[in-house]
Amino acid sequence: MFERPLFLAWILWYALKRLLKPRFKSRDALLKWQQKKIARHLKRLSKKSAFVKQSIQQSTSITGWPTMDKRQMMQYFNQLNTAQLDREEAIALALAAEQSRNFAPTLKGLTVGLSSGTSGERGLFVVSLRERAQWVVYVLATLLPLKPKRQKVAFFLRANSNLYESVKSSFFNFKFFDIKNNIQSLITDLQFFQPDVLVAPASILLHLAQRREASMLQISPKRIISVAEVLEKPDEDYISKAFSLPVYQAYQCTEGFLASTCSEGSLHFHEDIIQVEKQYTDSSNTRFYPVVTDFERFTQPILRYLLNDLIVINPEPCSCGSIFLRISHIEGRADDVFEFENQKKLFPDTLRQFVYALNEAPQDYRLIQTSHRHIDVFVADTSEKALAAIQIAFRSFLNAHALSNVDFKLYNYLPTQDQDQKVRRIKRAIVSNPKASD
Ligand SMILES: [Zn+2]
Repeated sequence: MFERPLFLAWILWYALKRLLKPRFKSRDALLKWQQKKIARHLKRLSKKSAFVKQSIQQSTSITGWPTMDKRQMMQYFNQLNTAQLDREEAIALALAAEQSRNFAPTLKGLTVGLSSGTSGERGLFVVSLRERAQWVVYVLATLLPLKPKRQKVAFFLRANSNLYESVKSSFFNFKFFDIKNNIQSLITDLQFFQPDVLVAPASILLHLAQRREASMLQISPKRIISVAEVLEKPDEDYISKAFSLPVYQAYQCTEGFLASTCSEGSLHFHEDIIQVEKQYTDSSNTRFYPVVTDFERFTQPILRYLLNDLIVINPEPCSCGSIFLRISHIEGRADDVFEFENQKKLFPDTLRQFVYALNEAPQDYRLIQTSHRHIDVFVADTSEKALAAIQIAFRSFLNAHALSNVDFKLYNYLPTQDQDQKVRRIKRAIVSNPKASD
């Protein structure tokens, strides 16, 4: 019964902290400040987390620690968390909440949830009341326009959780749209709700934009925020045009709220709450997997956590004045990189460029690698003439990438997909690291 006043008190505390947030003159000053924050954070964690205590004994500097991925995070869950939570118990609770679509229950007062996970492995996340308050303040401050009038926020998600419900306040009226439901009834509800702010995965935003263009949906949101899926540039342009608004992005996952769009339309990492190390994929030093250390998350520490997302950096300074790392775009996931024999690879951007460069670009497409020597190419609503052109163009594209031994099949329809699955236009449907033959 004391939860709500306590929650509001934490919100006030973090809102104040945000007002007094440190300003950094240079990247050097920022990185030094981060080191101090991390050292202090580890000291506090070592008193409650067996994992951190042990790691510090092996290396006092976190840079000497091995990186951790989702699998290891789950493996060490019990030793890592600072609330003596048991993994199996937490998973059982999160699954029960998902099945009943009742997201209220908590474990020892903590919010527990499962990330949607694309590769079969699902991540477990745990946050405290205090961390929820902090998250709310951060989301409000970075993404939502604070207006005197109460804002209505429509949130399309695959799973609700206490974390998201938290944003309900005197400033915001927050409505959750469960993507598992029938799309027509969701649209009817959305039309009735008339949101000021629309938050949804890119594929849903695209769908809503198409309906609006066809005068089948009459809503006029004042802000649009894309979450959870890769936002491709042509889609961003289409959505933006349909609603006459820029599309904001929130790069948010189990591991935290990592980046958001600034006033000038650039996506910046939140380097005031996380440290980002770059694990480059090639020598060009523009594309990397982020290794994240969160120096605020206490219940479930995120330490040198290797993310599966491919980030392309924009090295130019942003006109908004922020010195935080600027993201050109999120290219996709490690699982989306096509892998062939002899270590040959095709990155999602390369494949996308092929599609965009076609004379008659298809309405929609899927590229699915089904073996180390085969790709299925699906295009929607394409004329016979355009199909023939794609057939020739894709062959020469593969040859140009020294993949003449790779074949493909072209289909003039899109593969069916469950509505509650993330849309991945480019997908590797085989395991990593090919051997000499299939
Ligand atoms: Zn900026």
